[in-house]
Amino acid sequence: MAHVYPKFFFEDHLTDAEHASLVVTSSAVLYGLSVYTVFPVCVTVDDKLAAFRLQDHFKRLLDSAKIIGMDDFEKHWTYSRFESAVKELVSQNHVTEDVFIRASVHVNEHVPGTRSRGLKNTLSMFIYDATPIVPQNGARLKTSVWRRIPDYAIPSRAKVNGAYVNSVLAKQDAIDSGYDDCIFLDGQGHVCELSAANIFLVRNAELITPDNSSDLLEGINRKTVLEIAKELGIPIRETTVDLTELYIADEVFACGTSAYIAPVIEVDARVIANGKIGPITSKIKDLHHQLLHGVNINKVDLLTYL
Ligand code: PMP
Repeated sequence: MAHVYPKFFFEDHLTDAEHASLVVTSSAVLYGLSVYTVFPVCVTVDDKLAAFRLQDHFKRLLDSAKIIGMDDFEKHWTYSRFESAVKELVSQNHVTEDVFIRASVHVNEHVPGTRSRGLKNTLSMFIYDATPIVPQNGARLKTSVWRRIPDYAIPSRAKVNGAYVNSVLAKQDAIDSGYDDCIFLDGQGHVCELSAANIFLVRNAELITPDNSSDLLEGINRKTVLEIAKELGIPIRETTVDLTELYIADEVFACGTSAYIAPVIEVDARVIANGKIGPITSKIKDLHHQLLHGVNINKVDLLTYL
């Protein structure tokens, strides 16, 4: 289990964990009606603390709330208010190492029935240790027996808590079968993503990833990887991806806040290429790590110093 820091943000103030709770009558508990994001806070090379792409995370929270119809959040929260709350949370918890922050917006109304608009929203945030959810030195993935929820049922581009039952089913199935994580397919058999990370493959020196209409979360690190590849001059293609393209890829990797850049060495008992971390994956992994830790001076605008 993760180590959780003692001070939480709840509603509009910092408090101890035991006071940051939702009651069992809230829509958040009854229907999984919360949206969330997880972002990293890292110790930079100049020994400061910085959040990575905080504005993008806030925007995705707003977008997720909008898709679900949780309209109270944007009435009360601006980006600058959100940034101040993050700063206060980090400062009061005396963070000195890389951590993750989970920010959730909950529908905190009691037994209102199955609806979302015009109901009270509550922001919560807590800090926990930055342990990767996927092995960093060669992950083994299994195609899930569970298909990805399609956009016409529960949209993956909205990061909504209730939908994560789909991810739990698929990840547990992978673990039960002796793998590290799953590969979700859509109803037509195209590749979507992992349980909580996006996926890339390299074939013939081209970087390929499922496009945004492939029932996936529009990952902030997915976007970052595409930007890194563009700067490196690596050809990029966002498209529909068949499962068997992964089997014969030269390189496969996953990416996400909690996955970082995770090289994949096996999919469904097929070893990827020679089973070693590929050169493009390795380069992108290094550059991604540098971005998070403020090494690349031209990119420090992606960081919010706290
Ligand atoms: N897909 C899913 C389903 C996720 O939960 C996550 C983690 N947020 C990602 C992809 C990666 O997104 P990000 O890069 O924004 O962390």
